[in-house]
Amino acid sequence: MDDTYSHISNIYGMNHYEIDKPFQKILEFYAGKRLNLDQLGLYAGKELYEITDYIDKISPPALKMWGIDGDRIDSVLIDTMEKQAIEKLIKDFGINRPYFHGKSIIEHYAMGYLVADPGIYCIITLTHQTAYALHKYGNGAFNDYVSDLIGDSDNIMLGATWFTEIQGGSDLGANRTVAELQNNMWYLTGDKYFASNAGLADVSLTSAFHDGNHGAKGLSLFVLPRRNINGDLNYHVRRLKEKSATKSVPSGEVELNRSEAQMLGDAGRGIYYITEDLMVSRLDNAAAACGIARKAYLEAYYYSMKRKTFGSLLIEHPGIKRDLLDMEILLEGSIALTFKTIDLFNKSIKSEPPYDGDYNYARLMTHIVKNITAESSSIITEMATELHGGIGFLSEFPIERWHREALITPIWEGASNIQALDMLEAIKRKEAHIKMLQDFNKMVNEIKDGREIASSCYSIINESIDRILSMDDIASQFHAKYLMDSIGNSMASILLIYIGNKTGNNDFITAGNLYFQRYVKKIDYDNDVLSLCDSLINIEGPERLIKNR
Ligand SMILES: Cc1cc2nc3c(=O)[nH]c(=O)nc-3n(C[C@H](O)[C@H](O)[C@H](O)COP(=O)(O)OP(=O)(O)OC[C@H]3O[C@@H](n4cnc5c(N)ncnc54)[C@H](O)[C@@H]3O)c2cc1C
Repeated sequence: MDDTYSHISNIYGMNHYEIDKPFQKILEFYAGKRLNLDQLGLYAGKELYEITDYIDKISPPALKMWGIDGDRIDSVLIDTMEKQAIEKLIKDFGINRPYFHGKSIIEHYAMGYLVADPGIYCIITLTHQTAYALHKYGNGAFNDYVSDLIGDSDNIMLGATWFTEIQGGSDLGANRTVAELQNNMWYLTGDKYFASNAGLADVSLTSAFHDGNHGAKGLSLFVLPRRNINGDLNYHVRRLKEKSATKSVPSGEVELNRSEAQMLGDAGRGIYYITEDLMVSRLDNAAAACGIARKAYLEAYYYSMKRKTFGSLLIEHPGIKRDLLDMEILLEGSIALTFKTIDLFNKSIKSEPPYDGDYNYARLMTHIVKNITAESSSIITEMATELHGGIGFLSEFPIERWHREALITPIWEGASNIQALDMLEAIKRKEAHIKMLQDFNKMVNEIKDGREIASSCYSIINESIDRILSMDDIASQFHAKYLMDSIGNSMASILLIYIGNKTGNNDFITAGNLYFQRYVKKIDYDNDVLSLCDSLINIEGPERLIKNR
């Protein structure tokens, strides 16, 4: 049988872990060892690559509202290939297991980077987030759910997190769903306007007010099973949204009408649990944004090795080398930022509300990283599309999809202005910048090669924080996103230089220096940079690895 995808994608059949040396090295640096993701890399580069593209173009999920007996079922039909992929990722690869099995949560996110597709990965992350909250705040009452959600038992369950209502996504305090307690059971009534995994999820987390509470601080969090204690449907799925991407995950509207639920954790502490769960998924978002950008980069890189114009391969044209260099530098900075932050989160994961300083530092970084990675994913996928010329605009080929997929990353899990507002809160109210400045100062002091640039970046971070602290609320909101960008890009440059110094891999030091010129100072590269290009943009080249041995 002909393997159609080998004709329409240039990276189909490759091991997406094996060829990605910069990712391997950054991951190894933060995980403290080389992670064995070779099998997943193979799967991500072949079957999964094909399945996610096929679902997007040909076979998206469909809502089935009625069963053959005339009963309401509100169930989502997904392609059997997608079903098998979800089972394989959860059960065989154990993508949601690491944290629950006492391993570093970094392993979960590293697998997410390789999966990248924000549709299937959304199904996985919603399930992971649900297990995370039930495990951490359920006092053992939901352990059966947890083992099903992480793929430890024969029966796999899927989870979901439904907070957004039509009048309130960013502004969760504007939620209207109410909960009423009767005979030890909570009954929820309201309408959830964006509900991913609706029709697939066996158990969901959802927010509601009770006893006349209102505002974000009055929210509580509830565990909502798909079926009530009588085995009947516990809520209705009104419809599935028509979306421009993320098609593998069904996103619906859910009507709660005296739906049975149990409260999770303490009453009125919902906003803590929700924001912590959002931290888990914002880091998923960052890992996926980087993974999406990597797929697009790889498609563009290998296309440029085949396509000829004006008698030369694209890769031989200096302008193309320059575009690929810009993309690669931006992506390596994003990957470094993402896995640094995941490492911080991993180290503070036991912290509970109202949280310690380490957690607040990780949270501050998460807001910054969510924005930087979403932006870089959008820029890189757009350029990768353009490097394919007219071919890039045709929906016949997988490359076209990646830019569409990248565009969700700045929106869900809190749009970019909301991350900027949350960053202000973490600085002004939690003083999370103090630990951040100490940590980055320490890193800069340990840098030998590239110290001057790292110091300049540190000064930019310091000055940006001073500006934030000196401004009133209105002014700081006006400038927040710009300052967040300056802080995040300066951090990315420091991290690359630091990783290069610590591992002896000069390519990272070079990448950190170039990141500084291009994305911190926003000036042109020096004249001699063209000569460095080939080894930096060839991410599977042996030199990217050997220098580190
Ligand atoms: C495909 C998809 C799936 C989703 N799945 C889920 C899900 O499963 N569960 C769930 O709970 N939600 C889900 N969402 C909802 C998503 O998280 C929200 O759409 C997102 O958080 C933004 O909220 P909103 O749509 O209400 O936008 P709004 O809150 O109306 O914001 C509109 C714009 O205004 C900006 N803005 C708002 N307030 C301010 C301010 N004070 N200052 C400056 N700017 C501001 C925002 O940044 C945004 O850019 C999903 C969304 C999509 C598109």
